[in-house]
Amino acid sequence: MALLTLKDIGKIYVSEGNVTVGIRGVNLSFDRGEFVAITGKSGSGKSTLLNIMSGMDTYEEGELYIEGTPTSHYLQPEWEQYRQTYISFIFQDYNIIESFTVLQNVELALMHMEDKKARREKAIELITRVGLKSHIRQKGSQLSGGQKQRTVIARALAKDSPIILADEPTGNLDAQTSKEIMALLKEVSTDKLVLVVTHNFDDVSAYATRHVRIFDGAVESDRLLATKAPASSPDVSAIPPSTPSRTIRDGLSLGGHIFFAKPKLSVFLCLLMVIAMLGIFAITSFCGKMGSLFAPNYMFAPIDGRVVVAHQNGTPLSEAEVAELAATYDAKDILHHDYLLDMGGSSYATYLYGTVNHPIELEYTYGETFGEDIIGHYPETVGEVFLYLPISYQTHFGKDELRVEQIKLMDSITYTISGVSYYYDNNLTPKCLFSNEGFSVATSMMYLMRGNFKDSKVICDDGNRLQNTSVTEITVSLDVPDGKIVVYSSALAAKKEANPSVTLSLHFFAHYTSYDYRFDTSPHTLIFEEMYEDDILLLEPSLLTEGGGVGLSIAMSDEVICALSEEVLSSTYRQASLFFDDKKEAEEKATAMRKAGYVAVPSHSTYTPHPLDTVLNMIGAGGMAVVWVMSVLFLSFFLHLCSDRSLSAFKGDMAIMRSMGIPVRTIKVGMYVRMLYAMIPALVLMALSAILIFTSPTWNAIFTYLYGWQYALIVLGMLLITLRTTHKQIGKLFGESVKKALRGGATHD
Ligand code: ADP
Ligand code: MG
Repeated sequence: MALLTLKDIGKIYVSEGNVTVGIRGVNLSFDRGEFVAITGKSGSGKSTLLNIMSGMDTYEEGELYIEGTPTSHYLQPEWEQYRQTYISFIFQDYNIIESFTVLQNVELALMHMEDKKARREKAIELITRVGLKSHIRQKGSQLSGGQKQRTVIARALAKDSPIILADEPTGNLDAQTSKEIMALLKEVSTDKLVLVVTHNFDDVSAYATRHVRIFDGAVESDRLLATKAPASSPDVSAIPPSTPSRTIRDGLSLGGHIFFAKPKLSVFLCLLMVIAMLGIFAITSFCGKMGSLFAPNYMFAPIDGRVVVAHQNGTPLSEAEVAELAATYDAKDILHHDYLLDMGGSSYATYLYGTVNHPIELEYTYGETFGEDIIGHYPETVGEVFLYLPISYQTHFGKDELRVEQIKLMDSITYTISGVSYYYDNNLTPKCLFSNEGFSVATSMMYLMRGNFKDSKVICDDGNRLQNTSVTEITVSLDVPDGKIVVYSSALAAKKEANPSVTLSLHFFAHYTSYDYRFDTSPHTLIFEEMYEDDILLLEPSLLTEGGGVGLSIAMSDEVICALSEEVLSSTYRQASLFFDDKKEAEEKATAMRKAGYVAVPSHSTYTPHPLDTVLNMIGAGGMAVVWVMSVLFLSFFLHLCSDRSLSAFKGDMAIMRSMGIPVRTIKVGMYVRMLYAMIPALVLMALSAILIFTSPTWNAIFTYLYGWQYALIVLGMLLITLRTTHKQIGKLFGESVKKALRGGATHD
């Protein structure tokens, strides 16, 4: 049986309405061991004939048999397999991949070999055989025409296919080199079928066993020249059909080759990917920030295990009752006056750094620790606080030594900073830690500060008459000695100065009004009368300037404040917090307390949004998702636009690979792999910036701290961009037939 048989083959080209006959009625049969010269005038159909036999172009009439098997029903994958198994093609314009070295070009054809070492050895052996040993590491673009054609022959040998088709392989070479190439072809192809198209029959006359002449698309003559070598019949299917795992393995190595073969282009691609990464990074952190605006607003600060409890009728809870509740429900901790816990975000503080007062938002806490790595110490007295700050505050508060000593809470109460420690998640609100006692004093102070001292007054008795003065301002101060009240009054001070022996008896009336708060409907008024008669300090005139205010202003020490607020709180404070081990237990205990007639909610379930809120939140979150996706799409469009021009550089290479019989699928995988390679610098940069945000205060101040899932989102975005772009590129590269791509890409016509 003949190796290759053409029966009544015809090919017609239709382009722009013109019909051209490529070849017609061709009947030819070839066997192994033949070295066939095909000659004919230009345009007579020689290339068409070769292209059809190579499976790179289709035929409309007749039938092509390969080892007796008809091929007219073949589809793309079968032609691929056909080319892979049977065909090596040698073109006039040396279809090697210019950006690959000789070795890489040859190894490409040996891709089917599993063993890398064996592959390399075989490639070197073949390169040596075509006389290119000394040029093994040279890139295709640096070779002479003859050397390129030798590389192509080595590659054809590497494939070890039974058929070698050569279309004017020496057309661009000088006479001497032409002869050498033909001799080489002959030498290496004793048991193969070689078909050489040439316009100069002299070049091959010494080697050809048969001479076919084409005229006007048909066979004009077919002449045997010498007795051909006996046809042995070696195994044809030396190359196993490709499996998915092989496709991936070959694609991986191919992708690497493509990536490194064009360094400039790859650097450009990497740069694009870096830009895309920065884009997604920015978008992701922007969406995160925006998204957090739509985060649930808890009524009570959500703390694991926290249950807020109150009476159903809104009357205050007594200390004893809270203690009893804690015992009954086995709470691991209680905080009756939990006012400060829920102040986070709505309170602010200022600290002086240099000459500028800096505002800072704080959450108040107690009984927590923030690790070993702290500067200073945890608060020990009621006047001390410890700050837990984002690392960017290190520039103000110091790295090894505390640089800011004081902080004003509620814009008026001055605290000493006992220590600080830093954290890196700059999405979190800074914390202000009190000692346990300090927390309760601060609660008293701040609770009083947020209410109103209405119609408070001081009555002064200097022995002669009673003098009634309204208090315009009440402040609290940790600097005032224990149990004392400071009255800032120039009039009283003057009186005392004029007559130091005068006894001033002061009566302090504080009318305290707390505005509507949580479980109550009607405001409260409390009167403290003559409580502090003996403990009033008159301010020295020299200190008057600090007191400020036109009328009478007074400042109270923390003990006084606590005593005062004790009464305020005990008659107005309507809730308490109980703490349990975890959310689940809090949930169970809250249910039990509700059954017992209390209002009880785990702090985590105190988010009951208005339906409109829910809709807004959904629109907000959905909007952010849409913004994210749109941005990623935009970036992928951008990437595609920028990388589009570089595609033409690949077109030819891809076509060459296809003509070599490398499956399209493998090449596609290679293209994807190449893009993934291009992602690596961007990924490294991303990791680096993540590390910087986690180590450098300066970076931490500028860039949002992202969570693991956000980084995952960035990588996902980059993958999406990469895959989409590659998909589009592949669409462009492989939309055309091999032959067309070769004409448009690899050839220089
Ligand atoms: P040769 O290789 O012998 O010079 P070809 O096989 O290239 O000749 O061409 C045979 C005929 O087919 C010519 O008339 C040529 O113009 C025509 N032809 C070849 N390729 C195409 C094509 N892609 N589209 C239209 N006509 C074509
Ligand atoms: Mg031609």
